[in-house]
Amino acid sequence: MGLNSQMVYFIGAGPGDPELITLKGKRLLEEADIIIYAGSLVNKELLGYAKKGCAVYNSAEMTLEQLIAVMEEGEAQQKLVVRLHTGDPSIYGAIREQMDELDKRNIAYEVVPGVSSFCAAAAALKKEYTLPGVSQAVILTRMGGRTGVPGGQGIEELAQHKATMIIFLSVHMMDELVDRLKTGYSGDTPVAVVYKASWPEQKILEGTLDTISDVVKAEGIKKTALVVVGDFLGEGYELSKLYDKNFSHQYRSAGE
Ligand code: SAH
Repeated sequence: MGLNSQMVYFIGAGPGDPELITLKGKRLLEEADIIIYAGSLVNKELLGYAKKGCAVYNSAEMTLEQLIAVMEEGEAQQKLVVRLHTGDPSIYGAIREQMDELDKRNIAYEVVPGVSSFCAAAAALKKEYTLPGVSQAVILTRMGGRTGVPGGQGIEELAQHKATMIIFLSVHMMDELVDRLKTGYSGDTPVAVVYKASWPEQKILEGTLDTISDVVKAEGIKKTALVVVGDFLGEGYELSKLYDKNFSHQYRSAGE
């Protein structure tokens, strides 16, 4: 797709490692006249891709109104505006409210996806979230804290499924999180906490629901971590049908 120089681009920066942005995201960063980046989590090394003279704003210090004002002004001056979100913007990115404001103003935008931290966590752990016979569902959620969650989506309710669960934004509430998870999962269910996946300071803490809280406290981890829970972290699973020699599918007949 060609680049429109008068557009606003929402771009997923990836989980941290500057090489984990898409080629398209990098190209747009290089061409941007204005970059608004999520300062609390986006790796600042990515700003090194910006051209000389590019105006850079840190959204951590801005309100929605201020963000939109920068985009609006950029558009009026026919500038290429990049809004750089951490991971993928569709996950806890607060991107919808920005897009709606742009719609109201008839400002065109595109979204360029990124590698979410939950994908980087699986890579760090060298695990598969969807193991046959273990879990075929992945729940991405956060525990209600200062900001609530809608009814029916509490940790207890989600835990009933015993699916793979990835909990964002909640590692600072580990004791409560574990208690609530244990209403569905058994205490010996494996858990991993992945801190700063793909960053040089990445840490992986492992345990069970019964043990993980103490490990997290001992390491002093209070933010920028994912809690991943489920038997996909264990040893047992069934082999996939995809590569089963007795199972034929669209691209391969049985026995080949
Ligand atoms: N859009 C982002 C998530 C933003 S919400 C994404 O797709 O990853 C911020 C939360 O994401 C953090 O509190 C933490 O739980 C998680 N997070 C973001 N980057 C992370 C990383 N590199 N490693 C572990 N967790 C991360």
